[in-house]
Amino acid sequence: MKWSIPIGRVLGIRIGIHITFFLIIAWIGWVGWTIGGPESSLWAVAMICLLFICVILHELGHSVVALRYGVEVRSITLLPIGGVASMKSMPEEPRQELMIAVAGPLVNVLILAVLIPLKGFPSWLDMPIIPTTLPEMVDTMIRANIILVVFNMIPAFPMDGGRVLRALLAMFFSYTTATAWASGVGRVVAVLFVALGLYAPQPFLVLIGVFVFIGAESEARMVRVKDVLKNVPVSVLMRRDVPMVDGTDALRTCLERYHDSGYIDFLVEEEGEVRGILPADVWMEAVKKYGPDEPVGHHVVRRYISFQPDAPLDRIIQDAWGMKQEVFPVMQDGRLLGMLILADVSAYIARRTGEAGQTHPAERAEAPAPRPSRFSVDLG
Ligand SMILES: [Zn+2]
Repeated sequence: MKWSIPIGRVLGIRIGIHITFFLIIAWIGWVGWTIGGPESSLWAVAMICLLFICVILHELGHSVVALRYGVEVRSITLLPIGGVASMKSMPEEPRQELMIAVAGPLVNVLILAVLIPLKGFPSWLDMPIIPTTLPEMVDTMIRANIILVVFNMIPAFPMDGGRVLRALLAMFFSYTTATAWASGVGRVVAVLFVALGLYAPQPFLVLIGVFVFIGAESEARMVRVKDVLKNVPVSVLMRRDVPMVDGTDALRTCLERYHDSGYIDFLVEEEGEVRGILPADVWMEAVKKYGPDEPVGHHVVRRYISFQPDAPLDRIIQDAWGMKQEVFPVMQDGRLLGMLILADVSAYIARRTGEAGQTHPAERAEAPAPRPSRFSVDLG
């Protein structure tokens, strides 16, 4: 994640703090200072740090179970709104998703199981804004962990409760149906939040409502995308006429080909073999900088991914979206069979889901279908 400062690794997972989080520390320190001077300021900062340790432990709860199921967990990042664990492709096995989703709040329940016997249930009525004694701090942490459990179990994506609901439904219905229902419940909850937030008025609740609504939407969309691409191999959407340029050609060849064919990204051949790709932004930039007589060979992107024709699109699409590559050579046994253009995949998805109109056959789609993030994200 951008603007995240790494603070260490646990179980191979990178733990980072988002730079905006320091604003929260500074702000809470200042609030403490205005209430009771430097001592109160220190207590305030200690409170925020303890709170975020609880959030990291929550995320680690998800991560440990995810790792056990072989899900790759890249990083945990602390944001002012909570923690985010970046996982590569969540399992579609309902039982596994259920266990991963429940593991986070379960950690907070365990923390409560330790703290509550020490201090009993705290009152919600006379809460100090900043705790300034150890017993008050324990009270604050009990309240915070209760809120973390209740808030996360709200049955709406991207809360853990949304995943629990989807997993439970998926035990009886198809994954797509379960997601549609869970997403619908999420949106209803989101609208209730916004209405309540406007009525109260509580801007924070409105913000959470909007956030939940978007989360519910994008989860449903990703599942629809994968559903549309199920059983569609790369070869179905691959183009057989591949726009090639030679490494010894001048960049003006790209311009000419673009005007003739509409193709905007090219594959580059050298001595009769595919040696790289020449994306539109690269050659256009080079033409501007060095003029049209510049050789193609100087600007070839030689690190690129290619696909096999029988690769299933629903499996590779998230990876493809995550890369800064618009065109992919389709190769078999070292032989070039065609080219996969991401815009074609987006247009296909849009057609099949009835989301948007057509695109020019050879050009990049003007408005590609939404790109879901490469990782599923959990907010603790
Ligand atoms: Zn969580």
